[in-house]
Amino acid sequence: MIVFDLLCGDGHRFEGWFGSAEDFASQRDRSLLSCPTCGSGQISRVPSATRANLGAPQPKAPAQPAKTPEMEGKDPFAIAQMLYSRMLDELLTKSEDVGKEFPAEARKIFYNESPARAIRGQATSEEHDELVDEGIPVARLPVPPTGKLN
Ligand SMILES: [Zn+2]
Repeated sequence: MIVFDLLCGDGHRFEGWFGSAEDFASQRDRSLLSCPTCGSGQISRVPSATRANLGAPQPKAPAQPAKTPEMEGKDPFAIAQMLYSRMLDELLTKSEDVGKEFPAEARKIFYNESPARAIRGQATSEEHDELVDEGIPVARLPVPPTGKLN
């Protein structure tokens, strides 16, 4: 496919997709082209802005997490760990520590008996499983909260 920038007699600019340059010429000659804005059949091609779509998607660079100077030169694994620990810190600083009351509090929030908020705390495996069984969204943190936050 080829994309042509087209111009009608009234100066409206629009795009047209054609199988080839010949296809465009043929459609134009048979007055099959018309301006989508005003319907004018007087269409001409804007030669400078043509481009071809070769049908292959352009390779896109994968999205990179925001890097900071301290991450320069570090290997991707170390950077991932750094980002993860930041995410964890944020989670821990923005949530309320309810300690061993966690299972009870999580339940109250779930059943609208307590104001909705992010909480953290301790739960035994059994308590965790009970919460999950009740359909209460809880997440297990793979590492214990660090001492610096307390
Ligand atoms: Zn027009």
